[in-house]
Amino acid sequence: MKYIVCVKQVPDTSGKVAVKEDGTMDRSKMATIINPDDLNAVEAALSLKDKNPDAKVVVVSMGPPPAAGMLHEILAMGADEAVLVSGREFGGSDTFATSQILAGAISHMGIEDGDVIFCGRQAIDGDTAQVGPQIAEKLGIPQVSYAADIEQNGNILKVKRALEDGYMSIEVNTPCLITCIKELNTPRYMTVNGILEFDKKPYTVYDFETLKDEPLIELDTIGLKGSPTNVYKSFSPPVKGAGKMIEANEEGISAMVKELAEKHII
Ligand SMILES: Cc1cc2nc3c(=O)[nH]c(=O)nc-3n(C[C@H](O)[C@H](O)[C@H](O)COP(=O)(O)OP(=O)(O)OC[C@H]3O[C@@H](n4cnc5c(N)ncnc54)[C@H](O)[C@@H]3O)c2cc1C
Repeated sequence: MKYIVCVKQVPDTSGKVAVKEDGTMDRSKMATIINPDDLNAVEAALSLKDKNPDAKVVVVSMGPPPAAGMLHEILAMGADEAVLVSGREFGGSDTFATSQILAGAISHMGIEDGDVIFCGRQAIDGDTAQVGPQIAEKLGIPQVSYAADIEQNGNILKVKRALEDGYMSIEVNTPCLITCIKELNTPRYMTVNGILEFDKKPYTVYDFETLKDEPLIELDTIGLKGSPTNVYKSFSPPVKGAGKMIEANEEGISAMVKELAEKHII
């Protein structure tokens, strides 16, 4: 049984965001972190492994070689194996091509009954929340998004799914894909043993050569060429002017009502 966790390295947007002249984010000038929702996905997999010690947690990321550091951290948290999907052919991928490549990499690992693929709900840079559901579609397996609680009973998962106004309880057969939200758990820290021994665990790089025989991996469905999305324009929204303060008294409210009426808002 395998728990495969998809993790993305993202720019740390909690500090100053570096922006290039064309309005796009200058990733080279920003520190990177593990995408926050993906830490919840890692914790979900490690918690299920705590109850099923024979299971293996495999963490996979598509990104440039420096993403290795992030994978080492997750090995130190307790994952058993890490896979970095990296190569020139994969560069410039939009969400369609990214999910195509990750689905190809997961097919290459092989999936069977009992296996679960975990993703974060969304990445804090691209922010589309499309990659997880697209991977499930491309692998032809069921998916449950926005997981707030997960229990595994053999080949079946019971998932509490967050909705806008409540929760839905849903059972799903494995293999399946789950997207995880912050409410699901509190991610654990790396352990001292994990930090000392992460480099004894298997770490593999899948390049185009490794994956080229996978049916999902074709040069015209991956990378820039395989990306149906084009960024037409990137810009910062105009800064809004300061609001107008009014006193919460009869005079202030009358003035506000008069002004709204003059502007035909009321
Ligand atoms: C035309 C175009 C070109 C682009 N070119 C580049 C580029 O050259 N370089 C670049 O970095 N980005 C590029 N992007 C952005 C890139 O497409 C997205 O960042 C990526 O597809 C993931 O989408 P997202 O960030 O919206 O992820 P979401 O769909 O919000 O992510 C959901 C979850 O999917 C999983 N996931 C997402 N991405 C990965 C990943 N790479 N590895 C493992 N798991 C993942 C994670 O679990 C994550 O929590 C490009 C986008 C477009 C539209």
